[in-house]
Order: sequence, then C-alpha cells, then structure tokens
Amino acid sequence: MANKGLLLCVCQGNCPSFQKMNIFDVGNAVRREKLVDYIAIHPQLCATDGDRFLSTLLKGESTDELYVAACDPTMQVKMFRDAFAESGFSKEHFHGVEIRNMDTAQAVDAIKGSLGPQGS
Ligand code: SF4
Repeated sequence: MANKGLLLCVCQGNCPSFQKMNIFDVGNAVRREKLVDYIAIHPQLCATDGDRFLSTLLKGESTDELYVAACDPTMQVKMFRDAFAESGFSKEHFHGVEIRNMDTAQAVDAIKGSLGPQGS
C-alpha cells in the first residue's frame, strides 16, 4: 500500500487565514483515524528551511503520496517546485489542500476529502 504523508503549514501560526482552526486538533483528527502514515506540522514550508525539510523528507523512500494542507494548492506547487526537483519527487504524487479561512472541522473535512474514501 502506498505510504501517505500529511504536512500541515499555517504561515508561522500568526497569519489571520489560519486563526479559526486549532492546527494540532486538525492533525490529531487525521492521526486518530489512521488515514495517513505520518503527519508533521511545519511553520513555513515555503521558506528556505522549509524547502530543505521537504527535499530531505522526500529523498527518503517513506513517501509515495504527499498531502500538504496549507495555502492555495496552485501556489504550493510553484513554491515547492525546487524541493521536488532536488529530491526527485514527482509532482503527480503531490496533493495540495486549501485550508485557509476554515475552522478545525472544516479543515479536517477538506483533508479527508482529498484523501478519498477511507483514506484510500
Ligand atoms: S507554504 Fe503556504 S501556508 Fe505555508 S508558510 Fe508558505 S504561504 Fe504560508
């Protein structure tokens, strides 16, 4: 079965677009249902250290499908392009999930929706 990873990113935790949700509760809801193989929260994936984190993570063989719940998915693809190239990770296996301006329950639903039925 494909290994799925979920990264949560909320603009350092102080952006107004993410103030309605509790990002730890979002991650815990997905963890509890074992919908993915791992979850991590990163403060700023589009910063230089975020790029380094992504390329280091994806160079390993633990991720077949990567889900990133954060800002606009189209922007995410552009911002993570270098990290994907550096690690050899195909963007076909990347799934950006928009969670801006959502509360905790809405963000969980958006992530679950992108994972598909039973997280398959
Ligand atoms: S990747 Fe998106 S959500 Fe994360 S810090 Fe950058 S702009 Fe904000």
